[in-house]
Formats: sequence, C-alpha cells, structure tokens
Amino acid sequence: MLELIDVWYEVEGKAILKGINARFEKQRVYSILGTNGAGKSTLAYLIMGLEGYRPTRGKILLDGEDITDLSVTERAKRGITLMWQEPARFTGIKIRDYLTLGGRRKVSKEELERVLELVGLNPALYLERNVDEKLSGGERKRVELASILLMKPRYTILDEPDSGIDIMSLEMIEKVLSELVNAGGSVILVTHREEIALESDYAFLICHGSILKEGNPSEIVQFYKNSCDRCDHPNEPSG
Ligand code: ADP
Ligand code: MG
Ligand code: MG
Repeated sequence: MLELIDVWYEVEGKAILKGINARFEKQRVYSILGTNGAGKSTLAYLIMGLEGYRPTRGKILLDGEDITDLSVTERAKRGITLMWQEPARFTGIKIRDYLTLGGRRKVSKEELERVLELVGLNPALYLERNVDEKLSGGERKRVELASILLMKPRYTILDEPDSGIDIMSLEMIEKVLSELVNAGGSVILVTHREEIALESDYAFLICHGSILKEGNPSEIVQFYKNSCDRCDHPNEPSG
C-alpha cells in the first residue's frame, strides 16, 4: 500500500498542497480529479519524488517504509512510475529500442507488437520510427503507455493521460488500466475530465491543494459537476 500522511508542499511561502491524506491499495485504479491549477501534477511529482518535490511537511509510506526522502531512482526501483503530462522527446532512439531499453528488456516480437497495437500504434509503421519531434504529443504518449505496459509497475501515475490524444482514446485507456491491474499493479489517474475519473474504482477531488471530497467516482464526478464552481476561482476561500 502507498500512503500519503498529511502531505504539505510549499513554494516561496505559498502552500500548493495542504495536508493531503490518501491511501492507495493494491490492484485498484484511483483518480485524482480537479480543475486546472488544483495541485494534481504537484501531487503526482511528490509521489514520484522528482527533483525539488519533497513534502515540506508529512510523510509518504510504501508498504510501511518511509520513502519521503528517497530519490526518483529509488522509488522507480520499488515499482513507482510516472507518465508526464508532457512526455519528453527522446531524439534519435527508435521506438523499438526505446521499448526494449536497447535490448536490455527481454520482450518477444509478439508482445512488442501486441502492446503497440493496444495503444493504437500500428507496429509496421512505428517500430522503426524515431522517438523525436516528428511524433505528435499524442503519439509520444502512446509510446510511453506501451513502455509502461511492458514494465508492469506496481504503481503507475498517469498525469492527464488523455491530453494530446484524440477523443477516441477512452477505450484505449480502459484497456491500459485493466492490463496494469491484471498484472498486479495500481494506477493513480490524474485528470480534470469526468469521463476519465469514471474509469476508476475510487476518486479524490482536489481543490486548491486540499482533498475536498473522496469516494465513489460517480458521486465525486456529480459533485464536481454541480458544486465545484469555486474551484475555478482561486482567489476565493476554498473552505
Ligand atoms: P494541476 O496539475 O492541478 O493543474 P499544478 O500541480 O500544476 O496543478 O499546480 C498547482 C498550483 O501550484 C498552480 O497554481 C501552479 O501555478 C502552482 N505551482 C506549481 N508549481 C509551482 C512552482 N514550482 N512554483 C510556484 N508555483 C507553482
Ligand atoms: Mg494543469
Ligand atoms: Mg497538471
């Protein structure tokens, strides 16, 4: 289990996250829903432990181990992975080499083709292409999703997995989620879109850096639609 205990994050005296408490159990899909600027990506970076993202207060535990001060590499070794909102460009590496880690990841041709197809990329067209600026943002995200499927992490954080991907991709995201869960993993799905949050087992609604409400995704989505107007007005008190 991954646990956040009273996690605060402050930058230049401004509190971006204010006492987040959350538990993520095995083989479950969680969504973190909230409007732009709510603090979702910051929360994702803190869980992954990116450079400069350490809680100013609070703790992060993985199976009871305090990982609050561990580096991103140490967390990756323990099975935590993050797909960025804007995936990096890896100029000059073929998709085949990116997915097989230059041959270090043992994966059959069939498996390689299967995951590419699952994320909506035709293997015949994409395996030998370079991961570079000629790929669209959506294509790079699909390549990253394929890589995550081969990795089978224990905890996958997907930051706005649909941004930059066409509207047809909800079905693809569903398939990715069920594969990760069937492989024994859990997913933390960061999104501002209701239909994505509905794909989860449990939802957290984050507003101005706090969890405003959590529970059944359809109830949380309903609340978000009906009563979360104030989330769009960052200068008003969030209660
Ligand atoms: P979301 O992903 O929910 O859209 P973010 O986590 O990116 O939101 O940002 C939350 C808030 O914190 C925003 O108001 C953003 O401008 C602010 N913020 C994020 N990172 C920093 C930083 N390094 N320095 C100052 N403000 C930041
Ligand atoms: Mg944002
Ligand atoms: Mg974000």
